[in-house]
Parts: sequence; structure tokens; C-alpha cells
Amino acid sequence: MSEGNGIVWESVRFRVPCQGCAGTAEAVGGQGLVFGRLEWSEEIRCGGCGRRTVTCGRGETPSWLRERLLAEGELSPARLVLTGEGGSGRSVVAMKVFRARLGLDLAGARALLAEIESGHHEATLPEAAELAEALRAVGVAAHAVPRGQTDCPISGCIS
Ligand SMILES: [Zn+2]
Repeated sequence: MSEGNGIVWESVRFRVPCQGCAGTAEAVGGQGLVFGRLEWSEEIRCGGCGRRTVTCGRGETPSWLRERLLAEGELSPARLVLTGEGGSGRSVVAMKVFRARLGLDLAGARALLAEIESGHHEATLPEAAELAEALRAVGVAAHAVPRGQTDCPISGCIS
């Protein structure tokens, strides 16, 4: 994973029945944060009949793909970690970001913040990176931490 170059991407490989023949096709599904926007894609290639399809979109990722990333991704589920000083000021700003980005109501934003602060929040790495980026933009120190990592992944980070 890389942060800071504008792109955070995670993808998983799997097999699906081919729509063009009776064979099994290779698929790659991914989700990424590309210059501040979430994108997703799925590419299916069949070695048997040569059929190839690509589907992609921006914004909300299809739930089957999201679930697959959370279940099988190398970097997901990731955690969003707030590293600066806490307090009600930060809470208000953070909840504002959650409501604007995720369309949550106040109760939902509060529940999400509680989840994050208690270390129980799980998202795909690109989703966590998106929120971290949005939080940093309003002055809240936040990082997306990939699965299996406990520390801030950014070398030289002092927060
Ligand atoms: Zn085929």
C-alpha cells in the first residue's frame, strides 16, 4: 500500500462461472482511493472462450465486492486511527466529516466515532484512507492502518 501519491488500491482475485461458455473465468475485483475519490472495478477473463468484461464505477462499491475485499483482501479490513488529541472539538469535526462523506445521521456518525475510538471500526483500506484523508483536510490527525499493522504506516510520521 502507498499513501501520499494519491492512489490507494486493493484488489482480490477469484473465479467465476463464465457467462460465455461453460468454463470458469478468472476475475479481479478492486477498490481504490484515486485522488480523493473511491472507485471500483471488476475484470473477468475466460481462458476457454476468450470473453473479457470490465465493469467499473465511482462512489459506492457493490456490496459483494466490498465483502470480498473485507474477507479476502491482504490489506483489509483496515482500521481508521485518530492519532491526535481527542476531545469534544475533534469529535464535532470528525462527525461532520462522517456525515458529509457517508451520509450518516447524527446518531450514526456518533456510533462510528465511538467504534473508531475504541478500535473496533473495520473498513476496506481505500475506505479508511478516504476518511483519513478527509479528516486530515480539516485538521484531524488520522491514518488508515492496513490489516496486520499496528503502527502508523507512514515513515517519519510523528503523530
Ligand atoms: Zn468462457
